[in-house]
Amino acid sequence: MTAAGDFTDIEIDIAIVGAGFAGLGLGIHLARRDKESFVILERGQQVGGTWRDNTYPGVACDIPSHLYSYSFRPPADWSQIYADGAEIHQYLQACVVDEGLAPNIRLGTDVQSMRWDPAAHRWNLRTTAGDVRARFLVVAAGRLSEPKVGDFPGLAEFRGPVCHTSRWDDRVQLGGRRVAVIGTGASAVQLLPSLADIADQLVVFCRSAPYVLPRDNRHYTETERAEFRSDPDLARGLREQLFAEAELGITSRHGIHPDIDLLRDRAMNHLAVQVRDPELRRRLTPDYVIGCKRVLLSDDFYPTVLRDNVVLEPSGLDRVAGSIAIAASENAYEVDAIILATGFQSTRPPFAERITGRDSSVLASRWSTGMTSYASTVVHGFPSMFVLDGPNASLGHNSAIHMIETQLEYVLGALNYLAHTGESTLEVTREAEATYTSFIDDRARSTVWLQGGCRSWYLDERSGRLTLLWPDTAESFRDRNGVFDPLPFQTVA
Ligand code: NAP
Repeated sequence: MTAAGDFTDIEIDIAIVGAGFAGLGLGIHLARRDKESFVILERGQQVGGTWRDNTYPGVACDIPSHLYSYSFRPPADWSQIYADGAEIHQYLQACVVDEGLAPNIRLGTDVQSMRWDPAAHRWNLRTTAGDVRARFLVVAAGRLSEPKVGDFPGLAEFRGPVCHTSRWDDRVQLGGRRVAVIGTGASAVQLLPSLADIADQLVVFCRSAPYVLPRDNRHYTETERAEFRSDPDLARGLREQLFAEAELGITSRHGIHPDIDLLRDRAMNHLAVQVRDPELRRRLTPDYVIGCKRVLLSDDFYPTVLRDNVVLEPSGLDRVAGSIAIAASENAYEVDAIILATGFQSTRPPFAERITGRDSSVLASRWSTGMTSYASTVVHGFPSMFVLDGPNASLGHNSAIHMIETQLEYVLGALNYLAHTGESTLEVTREAEATYTSFIDDRARSTVWLQGGCRSWYLDERSGRLTLLWPDTAESFRDRNGVFDPLPFQTVA
């Protein structure tokens, strides 16, 4: 891997932006097939995306590790059912070493602009370490990479430490301090138990109570790990079983009874078993339909809320005055530190501001009422560009890695097609994108994501459209988008 400032201008077949699961996954395929030249541009000083950025205490994956890993690179011997963030990060770093990817990766390289050159049919990338000229641009910058910090009055004047979960700073001393945690999403419920162990007082600002299911994590025994290592079919079989089990979750997201009732019953039972106090239970009962937001897995979130040093504030943070964090309820708490577990800028990805396509159109403007695409991967007006993990490519019920791998198949199919036909560029038609978008909107209409009465990072706040999630099974995503079909593409002028 090359550190910042170490490269001069590059002319290449494929420029990949981002070295997380998606970018590295494509890199592995490209390195193995050895047909195209490519470079992976990464602004961070390490690879790993989400799993490099999120280092807060308790960070882990809530999808089982045998499903949350590349199908083409199973390590098989995960240490526990749900790996922690460090183990997943190590897995990705090992992929780089084992697949010989390091020479293709440029670390510390922030891509500042990506501009289509219509005359040369090339993408021109301006980076902090030099210019890159590429036939194809693959944006793999992640959908949960940019923290949503919120515009809280008085926060800038707060004198204690303020930290977003995805920008964790180990040097900040929270032991024995009074700490406010803003939010109760997936990041917060993982962080809170560890914080409660060390903080003098913890105030949890809970604007919307989450649905929580038992996590039931455990470490694999040494015998099990040895079996996984020696018999690849075992890990493969487990992966298939986990995938099939997760797929069952889609019916409840479509509001189908009794599936959605049974899911809710499981969550409500978990709450009832762990929280006996009716008033606290009432505060922790969500007021929206289950599945509307991500359903969380935790065995220690409710017990944490019950601890003597933890206060559950049943409203959001409204403002900060000096060292006082003031809730929307007007309850006020004197605190020494504020932790923002407030999520990410998912609907308006900042990379879109930096991409200029044919006719000088900026991707962020094209997406001014929400992200759209064809096959969740290509965008009209942006020739020879692929977006991974972008519009309608996430799931609320199954593994993101399945979606990424489907997109990788699509990209490789497109490259094969061009190599076969001798064409140099491709651009999807406006009509194909519009038809695909209508399909998504129709399929999404009756889902809990739109009908469940919650706000979530899945929805675009400008249009109310479901722009992040694929509104159906993971399998149907692969059926529809796993194979490149040249039909909806037009000749690029
Ligand atoms: P998130 O799900 O978007 O949650 C943000 C939280 O901040 C919500 O509870 C939100 O409340 C709250 N919030 C925002 N502004 C607030 C305010 N002014 N006062 C009080 N609360 C406020 O973000 P996240 O927890 O970082 O998770 C994002 C996604 O990352 C997850 O859905 C998941 O896909 C992924 N993730 C996955 C794992 C994993 O184990 N695989 C772990 C962490 C994260 P409202 O609900 O009221 O808006």
